[in-house]
Amino acid sequence: MLLSLVFAAAVGGGPVGPVVAVAGAAARTHVRPMARDLGAPVADEDAPVAVPPATDNAMDYYRSGNVLWVIDLVWSAALLVVMLATGFSAKLRDWSQRVGRRWFFTLVIYYLLFNLIMTIADLPRAYYEEFVRQHAYALSNQTFAKWWADTVKSFGVSCLAGALVLCVRYLLLRKSPRRWWLYTGLAMIPFIIVGNLIAPVWIAPLFNKFEPMRDKALETRILSMADRAGIEGSRVFEVNKSVDTKTLNAYVAGIFNTRRIVLWDTIIKRMSPPELMFVMGHEMAHYVLGHVWYLVAFSSLLIMASLYAAYRASGAVLDRWGTRFGFTTLADIASLPLILLLVSVFSLIVTPLSLAFTRHIEHEADRFGLEITQASHSAGTAFVKLQEDALANPRPGLLYKLWRESHPPLGERIDFVNAYHPWRDGQPLVYGDRFKK
Ligand SMILES: [Zn+2]
Repeated sequence: MLLSLVFAAAVGGGPVGPVVAVAGAAARTHVRPMARDLGAPVADEDAPVAVPPATDNAMDYYRSGNVLWVIDLVWSAALLVVMLATGFSAKLRDWSQRVGRRWFFTLVIYYLLFNLIMTIADLPRAYYEEFVRQHAYALSNQTFAKWWADTVKSFGVSCLAGALVLCVRYLLLRKSPRRWWLYTGLAMIPFIIVGNLIAPVWIAPLFNKFEPMRDKALETRILSMADRAGIEGSRVFEVNKSVDTKTLNAYVAGIFNTRRIVLWDTIIKRMSPPELMFVMGHEMAHYVLGHVWYLVAFSSLLIMASLYAAYRASGAVLDRWGTRFGFTTLADIASLPLILLLVSVFSLIVTPLSLAFTRHIEHEADRFGLEITQASHSAGTAFVKLQEDALANPRPGLLYKLWRESHPPLGERIDFVNAYHPWRDGQPLVYGDRFKK
């Protein structure tokens, strides 16, 4: 969790994309003609959708999830503090130096051992949250073998990506002790771009099987909408997430020639074609409106700001506790737990800002999805299915929204699709010039 910023930088995978979990048992009826085929919205698309209250089970999941979130924050910070205060990080550096001798090998050995220790210390938490708890709430179909294999593979990916990122950062720390945070932030831009480029073709397939869509009629409709939205050469993939979860989702991934729209097989099975078309409209908005590039820029700025905060705060910390920690400069690889600790404190403080930004992007993607499909009712029922299948709380508290919601709460999204329909009132569309009628 603490390492997410480091790895996000290398692996890509920002919050852009997922429509959020959805699902539903609506029987798939025949494919209704799209609004554009008729020249006017089909009548029942005008009917508002009520926000279902959260079930007892969903509230239970929500409350226990909040408690876990706090425990996780404290636990991961405590691990780093112990590594520093006991001088363990300095001992690990000494040992890595003896074995590796040269700067590069010392750094890589230190990081691999550090990552291994953190991963093992985190295993009980991960096992409970990702496996036991998901099964207890009937949200998962995953076998233990698959969970374990995924955990091992994630560890492998994080070793590779983390080592690469750290080599750059510590090299810059050595060469430029005062401006390293700036240069590292800039150096992360190509990392983020390459990470986004390779993630869908090299990383995601390590965990799941990606295949062309089986429902060719649906694929044709999706590609025709992509054509309307001016997305050329787009690809749609279906991924077998049903082996991992019962929740529903879809997302966009990749940039340049690896860009694609990915639908979980669970969402294809549970949603009706008009609901899926709204979800696709939402996903396509992320490309058409350039959200991927906003996020690249935003992540890079955020990395720069958090490293700057770590740099400024580290002086006082090292003056006071440097002797105890066994290092006196950030350029020493033994400083890794300290940098991670300071970065995560800063991240926690600015989380409401970054999430407000992603919620804005997701809201605009909803608007685009509505404007291109004009399927208000189907959008609303799609959100209801997402809510029911993910045990979501449609009206979470303010703190939850500020610190944890990358998308607007589902209750607000349903309110929006009920209220926003300029095409019915002869009003201009906000994104009317971004797609063919
Ligand atoms: Zn989205």
